[in-house]
Amino acid sequence: MALRGFYIGRFQPYHYGHHSVIENIAREVDEIIIAIGSAQISHTIDNPFTAGERLLMVAKSVENIDAEIYIVPLEDIYRNDLWVSHVKSMVPPFRVVYSNNPLVMRLFREEGYDVKTCPLYKREKYSGTEIRKRMLEDQEWKSLVPPPVVDVIEEIDGVARLKEISRDDK
Ligand code: NAP
Repeated sequence: MALRGFYIGRFQPYHYGHHSVIENIAREVDEIIIAIGSAQISHTIDNPFTAGERLLMVAKSVENIDAEIYIVPLEDIYRNDLWVSHVKSMVPPFRVVYSNNPLVMRLFREEGYDVKTCPLYKREKYSGTEIRKRMLEDQEWKSLVPPPVVDVIEEIDGVARLKEISRDDK
């Protein structure tokens, strides 16, 4: 039976820190479920990209990872005590959870899952917040994400979107 692992992130945008986590998970399991969290949120300063755009970023970036990968967008629900059941109902079955998010770890442990930590690689550099800031300030950001993520962001004119939604109406 294939060992399947679960990893969730918002991926706003997907960057080399996430990619390194997924490469490490692929060394431990046969199949990885990558959930795109807060799938219902887009067009905000902290969450500029849609679930579909993020799915494209992840799918194109993980093509060469040596594991079977399933990518599932997951909307938030506003009941933390029911969230693990929500996740279970939306993704393929899995046995092990990889996360560094204290809430995610706690909720899965309470439901009896095997939860492993997976700290982000070079956290000070590879960070969604840092990348969005650089985009807004016209600083270099492309080296922080895999090339397919640059392609997706250019295709959707993502930097212009982020700049536009960050302006106030005055
Ligand atoms: P998140 O809220 O997207 O990210 C929180 C912070 O953790 C971000 O700064 C993120 O960095 C960072 N991070 C992500 N992966 C990391 C890692 N492996 N090591 C260190 N830092 C890491 O949290 P998330 O864990 O990535 O995603 C959890 C998702 O589950 C969210 O969409 C959340 O809404 C959802 N959730 C929903 C419920 C509910 O609906 N009731 C309950 C629990 C969780 P980057 O910005 O660089 O990615």
